[in-house]
Amino acid sequence: RAKAEGKGQHAVFAPEMHAALLDRVELAAELRDALQREALSVVYQPIVDLVDRRVAGFEALVRWPHSRRGPVSPTLFIPLAEEVGAIVPLGRWVIGRACHEAARWQRERNGRGPVGVSINVSGLQLADPAFVRDVRTALDESGLDPGILTLEITETVIMRDSVSTLARLRELKSLGVRVAIDDFGTGYSSLAYLQRFPVDVLKIDKAFVDQIADGGNDAALARTIVPLGDMLQLHTVAEGIERADQHAELLAAGCRLGQGYFFSHPLDADAAGEFLRAD
Ligand code: C2E
Ligand code: MG
Ligand code: MG
Ligand code: MG
Repeated sequence: RAKAEGKGQHAVFAPEMHAALLDRVELAAELRDALQREALSVVYQPIVDLVDRRVAGFEALVRWPHSRRGPVSPTLFIPLAEEVGAIVPLGRWVIGRACHEAARWQRERNGRGPVGVSINVSGLQLADPAFVRDVRTALDESGLDPGILTLEITETVIMRDSVSTLARLRELKSLGVRVAIDDFGTGYSSLAYLQRFPVDVLKIDKAFVDQIADGGNDAALARTIVPLGDMLQLHTVAEGIERADQHAELLAAGCRLGQGYFFSHPLDADAAGEFLRAD
């Protein structure tokens, strides 16, 4: 036990902090184990054309159905994976799965238009020197047309280390894949950056979608993102659409694509295939 009393300069852990730390260490070990046993899964949320509601693509989202704890949220285990050096193999596994699934959808469509797949990429994956090679391997092994694949990178990551990110994005673009800025509007991208970066898609953060139907200044601000995207010749995809009024406002603002519980929750691979066949 650390020197809890007295005026010691040593760091002192309260018992509950100690417990939380142990729990995190344990969770990290369980995550590595789950990855090794392929006990993680990937679900797919439809991205629809807001005009006719037809499926334009799917966003791949990783899931961890934990036997004892129940489902663990990626907002918890992705940062943990980053912290303990497991994000690169985890991310590689997700890309492999999602490309494989997307290639199957394309084959089953026999000629009907292509359906995209978007995959979230952590800043640490992007910084990994082997990342571009890993993406190419996933494309080669699945046979997926690179034009089908969009890699989502958050605005914060793009802004953080712009010089090396720019170089990496150019390498990725040379594979023929598309790049999206995820959670757009939550960070502080300047227009100059947006123009300089080889990105194709802006994903409007749910926070803006929540505001857009509220009226008032926030709604007005949210509506300026779509014309901004148009001006920069980027597609805009709205995230987290939960209600008909939000759908209507986004349409009125000229946003063409969106996703959210209003259209569909994320689906397992088979259900996503069904969703597509029913489209
Ligand atoms: P994100 O990329 O912004 O993904 C959107 C999140 O919003 C997903 O949460 C999705 O399930 C949720 N969502 C979709 N529609 C609605 C809606 O109408 N209402 C609400 N309240 N939420 C909605 P999820 O799956 O829990 O993922 C959370 C975050 O974890 C993702 O945010 C992404 O940053 C990260 N993540 C998920 N999968 C991966 C992955 O494979 N790799 C990496 N690096 N990060 C991932
Ligand atoms: Mg995303
Ligand atoms: Mg997002
Ligand atoms: Mg988000």
